[in-house]
Amino acid sequence: MKAKTQEIFNRMEAEYGPDLTCYLDHDDAWQLLIATIMSAQCTDARVNEVTKVLFKKYPSVKALADADLSELEKDIHSVGFYHNKAKNIIACCKKLIKDFDGEVPSDIDKLTTLPGVGRKTANVIRSNIFRIDSVVVDTHVLRISNKLGLVNTDDPVKAEFDLMKVVDKKYWIYINHWFIALGRTICKAPRPKCDECYLKDICPTFAKEIK
Ligand code: SF4
Repeated sequence: MKAKTQEIFNRMEAEYGPDLTCYLDHDDAWQLLIATIMSAQCTDARVNEVTKVLFKKYPSVKALADADLSELEKDIHSVGFYHNKAKNIIACCKKLIKDFDGEVPSDIDKLTTLPGVGRKTANVIRSNIFRIDSVVVDTHVLRISNKLGLVNTDDPVKAEFDLMKVVDKKYWIYINHWFIALGRTICKAPRPKCDECYLKDICPTFAKEIK
């Protein structure tokens, strides 16, 4: 890992520590899978409000696999894109039962066969449930890794592979947690608070802006 990249991660580690608390509330792997499917284009806080009620009404993979589509659409209406999300949730739970004995797999190739599950969702499960070194590229990670010059792409999948090339494996699992923490407080979209940022002296975006 380059010295500058190491410095970024040293500072982030000092700032946020080794805590790997997941922002989406869940008691089980399948609950995190469903919450992550719902979190696309939605805040974690809103998803947590919905799942608090949803997982009482549908307490198992089987209950969601058997859900009525239009009723589930109403149940998750407030997370947005509810038609597709409800359809994917039911199809995903049916496939979990049919192909994986109702258990959430850890293998990325198996996870991404599930309806509604792309690499980001699969990596959320791998890192948070199975503690497998994986890079979760969400909107914060994509934005901030570009600003810090770690990647140069708008494509989340390319960013995931590029980050795996330039960042030591021991940090992969932390990238999402630390970048979200920075993105919610300082490196906000659309206006980052660069003056308050503990990375400003090594951030190429800040260097460009003060020229
Ligand atoms: S200096 Fe500004 S752009 Fe760079 S990481 Fe900090 S807040 Fe983001």
